[in-house]
This record gives sequence, C-alpha cells and structure tokens, in this order.
Amino acid sequence: MKMMADYLGSARKSVLSPLKYLLNLIDPPVIVLVYHRVTELKSDPEMLAVTPDNFRKQMRYLKESVPLVRFEEDWTKAPKPAIAITFDDGYADNVLEALPILEEVGVPATFFISTGTIGTSNEFWWHELERIILEPENLPVSFTLYDNHFGKTWSITSDRERQELYNGIVRLMNEVDAVRRADWLIQLHSWAGIESASATLHRSMTIEELRLLAENSLVTIGAHTVTHTRLASLSTEVQREEIAASKQKLETWLGREVMVFSYPFGRRCEYTKESVALCREAGFVKAAANFPGQVHRWTDPYQIPRHLVRNWPVEVFAEKLRGFWTR
Ligand SMILES: [Zn+2]
Repeated sequence: MKMMADYLGSARKSVLSPLKYLLNLIDPPVIVLVYHRVTELKSDPEMLAVTPDNFRKQMRYLKESVPLVRFEEDWTKAPKPAIAITFDDGYADNVLEALPILEEVGVPATFFISTGTIGTSNEFWWHELERIILEPENLPVSFTLYDNHFGKTWSITSDRERQELYNGIVRLMNEVDAVRRADWLIQLHSWAGIESASATLHRSMTIEELRLLAENSLVTIGAHTVTHTRLASLSTEVQREEIAASKQKLETWLGREVMVFSYPFGRRCEYTKESVALCREAGFVKAAANFPGQVHRWTDPYQIPRHLVRNWPVEVFAEKLRGFWTR
C-alpha cells in the first residue's frame, strides 16, 4: 500500500513528534476524515464544500493507497493504519453528488444526520444568515438585535462591517437555543426585507433521499442532534432530548438501529462531559468530535477526533494526509 509506505517514511523522518512515532509503532492509527458537502458553490464562506471533481480524485487516491474502514466498526481488529470517511449534517448533495462517487470508487462512508431540517425546506441557520446578511445588494445602515441579554446594535456602512455583523450574529447564535435563534431570524428577515426561504441550494435531504442513502451497502447512518445547537450551551434535559430524539427519529424513518453520533460543531468547547454521558446513555457505541487527531485503541470512543477536509486538489490532499499521520 502506497500510503502506508508514505506514512512510515514520513513518520521516521519526523523529528517533531517522537512520541507520535512511538505511539504509531505500538498501535498504528485510524484517521477519520469529515466532509459536509460535495457540490459546486458560488459562495462558500464556511469553506465546507468540496467540488465533485476534487472529491472523486480524493476518493480514488484513498482507495489506491490505504485500507478504508467504517466509522462504527471495531478498529482493534482492522488493518491499520487506515482511514474512515464521515459526513456531517445531511445535505441533499450528499445523496445527489457524493453517493454516486462513493459507489463508483467503492468507498464506505458514515453520514451523521441532523434530523430537524430533514424533509423540510428550512435551511440550516448559518445559510439563512448568509442569505440575509451577506448576499443582498443593499441593506439598512444599521441593525439592532432586540434581546434582553444579547441585545446590540451594529453599523453596516461597508462590506467589512457587514462581515462583522455576520460573524457577530454567528458567534451569538452559537451561544443560544433554537427558540432564541428563531426569534432573531424573524427580526433579521423583517429588517432586511427578505422572505423566509424555500431554499434549494442549501437544502437538506428529504426523507426519501435519506432512505435511498441508508439502503446503500456502503453507507451507515448516524445521528447529529435535532436542531444542530451547540450542546455546551444547553441544559442537561434539552441536551438529552436533542441527542435521544435525533436517534429515535432516524430509527423510525429507517427501521433500523442507529449506533453512532457526532457532536454539532464538535470542538472540545462545544460539548460537555454531560454530552458524552448522554451519548452513552442513549445507547450509542461511538461519538465523533471535530478536532484533529489520530485514533488509537486507547482513544475515548465517545470523543473520536476527525480531520476536516477542504476543497483540496488531490496533490494538496495527499500532502495533508501525510501530515495527519504524523501530527
Ligand atoms: Zn454539523
């Protein structure tokens, strides 16, 4: 296997992390990659979309160079080092654009689905914000958010200030629950004079598309909460509901057990010890986080690190992978 040779070669050369080198010798790692979207977008401020062309080349490269494992399987028995592919959120393009490529190349993948937007024309809130704040030609010169705790006024007389409003609202929305977000979105919609969207560009999959995806033998479905809220900002009760209800909803739709989960946003500050305990309680066997790292047999199965993949041409992708093995 070409990459295994690469991996060993670069690991030997690496003087930066002798500890990693040693750990990799004791137990060769699994690297988990996380994707969100496979599609061509005009504007992608979060940089979460990979074009179909780059995605196909990335998958072919992996297929030729490294053992591919499934997220949910027991990696102590897997050929290692190995790579697992995951997707977060549940965008329609996962079924329409990514799945045909996974099938063509023969690559298994796990899709973590946020259930609240499935089968609705609702956008995820960050896309709604892009449409309200970043896309319009003209906007009023200031925006005041009415909220008894987070209330604030932004001036918007330049593109830079517009970006600051967008970043500011994203930051605040990460701190609050779905009810408060919905109230703020109503304020923003009426301020910008923009109708609530029936979006197609950023839509989530329909229930039929989800079933189609789930039926494919290369595919595993996992849960990713109901409303895609930062768990760390929620009470235990609401966290439990978000975690358990997304599992239950998927199981009802698909008629099979859902055994794995991924935390929304997924950095260490975005979930808590309680979230981890609640995942265990809900009956999940593994949960994926979203910070870089390697998976060894001693890694906490409820906080599995993942490497985010950008829209990298295959040469850059190969170079990044070499870094993932050694960093
Ligand atoms: Zn997500």
